[in-house]
Amino acid sequence: MEINPLVLEGYARAFISRFDRYAIQKPEGDYGAVKHPLTLHHVEQHFRGEITLGAYALTPQNHAHWICFDADDDDMFTHVQELAKELANQAIPAYIEPSRRGGHVWLFTPPLSGTDARRFGKQLLAEHHIEHMELYPKQSSLITGPGSFVRLPLGIHRKSGRRYHFVTFTGEPLAPTIREQIAILATPERVPQTFIDHILSSAPEAKPVFPTPRFQRKNVITGDTPSERIKNRVSVYDFVSQYVELDQSGRGLCPFHDDHVQSFSVNQQDNYWNCFAECGKPSGGSVIDFWMRWRETHGESADFKLTIVELIGLLNL
Ligand SMILES: [Zn+2]
Repeated sequence: MEINPLVLEGYARAFISRFDRYAIQKPEGDYGAVKHPLTLHHVEQHFRGEITLGAYALTPQNHAHWICFDADDDDMFTHVQELAKELANQAIPAYIEPSRRGGHVWLFTPPLSGTDARRFGKQLLAEHHIEHMELYPKQSSLITGPGSFVRLPLGIHRKSGRRYHFVTFTGEPLAPTIREQIAILATPERVPQTFIDHILSSAPEAKPVFPTPRFQRKNVITGDTPSERIKNRVSVYDFVSQYVELDQSGRGLCPFHDDHVQSFSVNQQDNYWNCFAECGKPSGGSVIDFWMRWRETHGESADFKLTIVELIGLLNL
């Protein structure tokens, strides 16, 4: 598939927020992080089906230029398509991409801080009474690693072997050929800033990231070693809920595997987390165990010492 280089570049810039590194899908469907620059050649390979890329949501400066709703099943997908339809009635553009199950709805925006991108997305969901919808970017700002990404559209899903294309509200292809779809998405219509400002004006302020008041209140007990100090002072629930959407009982989708059934939970009383799917090692434990897994899934070393050093810095301990 030969694609005009300008179209290729437009498409890459529409979806991918950083080019200093990239995420690539493995045959089993999960992703690996590659710490080499991403080139347009990779994007071409993606369209040819030779590789499948992930599109990072945030720039290294924590800016987003799209938000993406990720519906895990067909029910959720129906809800978010209704949201897209209501937006379209107000002349707000959204792009619908069905997937293996469920699908994505993309809203391209002017550059927004990660914080405002998430506030905007969450407020849209709240106003349309949609709960438990995954929203990308998943982080307001990057702390370690490059953060969340979504499979770059119009490639081949490594696990299903299929290519999913964009559709209209009636389920028709957005354009007859993949090449034409690529050209449309290379210059996507963006949500006007005035509409974003309007939605943000009724959105709650973002939670402060570090340290939260509850961290400080736990300051009473101390330990001898850095790891004891971290474990004693930090509420796993407060810490983890900055990275994972948790409901009031402390359950949520596991950030470490492709989870659709809320396998992840935090026990607030005993201050630990656990993934029932036992998706890796460790699949539960303290805030240190959580951060080791987090680092690992974001392309950083899971080394214990490095994890401790980073946590001490993050938490001002
Ligand atoms: Zn898991």
